[in-house]
Amino acid sequence: MSQKGLLIVISGPSGAGKGTLCKALLERNNDIKLSISCTTRQPREREVHGKNYFFITHEEFQEMIKRNEFLEHAEVYGNLYGTPKSYVEQSLNGGSDVILEIDIQGALKVKENYPEGVFIFIMPPSMEELKNRIIKRGSETEKSLLTRFNSAFKEINYVSNYNYVVINDVVSEAVKKIESIITAEKCRVDRMKKSGMLLQEVGLNE
Ligand code: 5GP
Repeated sequence: MSQKGLLIVISGPSGAGKGTLCKALLERNNDIKLSISCTTRQPREREVHGKNYFFITHEEFQEMIKRNEFLEHAEVYGNLYGTPKSYVEQSLNGGSDVILEIDIQGALKVKENYPEGVFIFIMPPSMEELKNRIIKRGSETEKSLLTRFNSAFKEINYVSNYNYVVINDVVSEAVKKIESIITAEKCRVDRMKKSGMLLQEVGLNE
């Protein structure tokens, strides 16, 4: 019997650096998969369909909701975002770990249906730095910038719904922390017992 993959949910305010962290994490860990979300948002410069997101229309999104094809979906800053269910389920059942980089509403929904997931909240080192990072990204309109700043202040209060918090000051350090969390979670007795691996690891049957 093999251990089911870990569902790792990463969220935090816009500008906390979730995207950069996930990218670095995937580069260092070939066995971790990233779930690609569907969105009705317009692609930003350099974003690629099927790599960053599946960019779909409102109608297509609504059809997917009707067919129950999302693990969770939410409206974020006026656009729809959703996690396709089949990819995540197949990967977890095949023993791969899967990362969902989703907003807080989405994370809370996943937690309800999948409490054995690992919920990690990424914090910026300061609100000033968060502001600088969003501005530096340069992809938002003034109105969207303001919405993202205001949401960030509110979102930070949701940290207590998560299992872990990682402050993203130096990316390499933050990635190491996430890797340590994943390692520790895989050593948890309750997880190993559930997958029948506790005594199997040392050649005994439970
Ligand atoms: P952005 O437009 O900057 O790519 O993403 C905006 C927000 O939507 C981010 O907080 C991002 O984590 C979140 N997001 C991306 N994909 C999903 C998804 O599938 N579900 C939910 N609930 N949020 C998502």
